[in-house]
Amino acid sequence: GATIGILGGGQLGRMLSVAASRLGFKTCVFEPGSDCPASHVANFHLKADYDDHAALERFARSVDVITYEFENIPTAALDVLEAITPIHPNRRALATSQDRLTEKEFLIGLGLSVAPFADVTDADSLRAALNSIGTPSILKTRRMGYDGKGQARIKSPDDADAALAAMNGAPAVLEGFVDFQREVSVIAARAQDGSVACYDPGENVHRDGILHTTTVPASLSPSQRTDAVLIAARVLNALDYVGVLGVELFVTRNALIVNEIAPRVHNSGHWTQNGCAIDQFEQHIRAVAGWPLGDGSRHSNVTMENLTGDDMDRVPQIAKTDASLHLYGKAEVKPGRKMGHVNTVTGAAT
Ligand code: ATP
Ligand code: MG
Ligand code: MG
Repeated sequence: GATIGILGGGQLGRMLSVAASRLGFKTCVFEPGSDCPASHVANFHLKADYDDHAALERFARSVDVITYEFENIPTAALDVLEAITPIHPNRRALATSQDRLTEKEFLIGLGLSVAPFADVTDADSLRAALNSIGTPSILKTRRMGYDGKGQARIKSPDDADAALAAMNGAPAVLEGFVDFQREVSVIAARAQDGSVACYDPGENVHRDGILHTTTVPASLSPSQRTDAVLIAARVLNALDYVGVLGVELFVTRNALIVNEIAPRVHNSGHWTQNGCAIDQFEQHIRAVAGWPLGDGSRHSNVTMENLTGDDMDRVPQIAKTDASLHLYGKAEVKPGRKMGHVNTVTGAAT
């Protein structure tokens, strides 16, 4: 059987491995860390750094197709891998989503709405950006941020120096604060033949910049739901995308504003494990393996809650309920670190 190579050994890589294995594939995970969530379930774990080009070559030769669980893969590593084995989603999807500025320019080019933004490299450009965008606003590093890391809120111009210092000299973007009614995301998939399937949008609640819960159905009007799905499909087609993509949206009274896109399976899509016949992980494996997409229609109402380090003492209690527990097997428990999630089915789909 074919072997699927997965870059990254976290929980997303783990759940991709499980899905691949259920479809009869073997998996090989490339991950610098040892004892990582995906290494416990993958058939092979190639433990090496992204600058070890010989190891990258060995990895690429040992698999039939390469995919990834995170978007911050160094360009030089991708060059080595792609010369040997196809990578899905493609390089353009990665390049676009690795950099918040590139991503916003891409989205605007598609005619989509984003928060007002400006490029910030130093105190002068931050001052100019604050003059045009105003406060409240958020300064974000262009690259590498996740779970709200690499961000600083600016409530008034007095906060500017501290916010800039928090960037540690990294290029940043200033974003106007969107006064949203709610946050939703669309988990969307595109197969190699160009067919597209989107999961029903989920409604997201964040705590301290980290996703806390996703609930389906989201409270959206029928036209908002249609618009959300069409936005995701437009992004997929424009990138000639293969695999699953997450699109985070701010819902305001009169618009859907794209917050960011993630070229991978997405935390806000974990509800699909208990809400659909084919979950986002299997859908992604199907797409990258060249299979047809599966049935992603939603059969249940679900709430997904992330379990971070601080929630782990609740696990024995949750285990006694009907809820579905998904734990990542992480060796080290830390406050704020994602350790697992729990899906609660609240009824048949409405
Ligand atoms: P992740 O990749 O883990 O989703 P991230 O570090 O890339 O997170 P963002 O998605 O940019 O962070 O921001 C995290 C959360 O902060 C958003 O989901 C939203 O709740 C809030 N937020 C970010 N940017 C804005 C904005 N411009 N206006 C209002 N709220 C925002
Ligand atoms: Mg992000
Ligand atoms: Mg986000």
